[in-house]
Amino acid sequence: MRFIERSFKVNTTRRNEFIDITQEVEKIIKFSTVEIGDVIVYCPHTTAAITLNENADPDVVHDLLHTLEKLIPHKDSSYLHGEGNSDAHLKSSLVGVSEQILIKDGEMQLGRWQGIYFCEFDGPRGRDVIVQVRGE
Ligand code: ZN
Repeated sequence: MRFIERSFKVNTTRRNEFIDITQEVEKIIKFSTVEIGDVIVYCPHTTAAITLNENADPDVVHDLLHTLEKLIPHKDSSYLHGEGNSDAHLKSSLVGVSEQILIKDGEMQLGRWQGIYFCEFDGPRGRDVIVQVRGE
């Protein structure tokens, strides 16, 4: 059983933004030399998230962000949290802070159109992503 953990920084540039981090995760898997196992991609933040979704048509990311914004508005007179970023906390919990992806033959078993996204909901900021690879 092999196990490695690596982290990297993501510098976001907008309040709400998805950043494709697939290549960074691929590099860590190559470095691990794990052939069969899994990888966990995790962000230790309360106003950001990790998700898998389409990386071919950028309109998909636009539509996801647009719909999250519509469902969970930035300002709401019922919010109590004094930082003014309750929407970002909600989106983080809704989307989730990690993804687990299977590895076979040294490659992530991503679908043809799937990419891994870091989801910023309260940027711009410097963020951390932690990646753990386990397997043989
Ligand atoms: Zn807050």
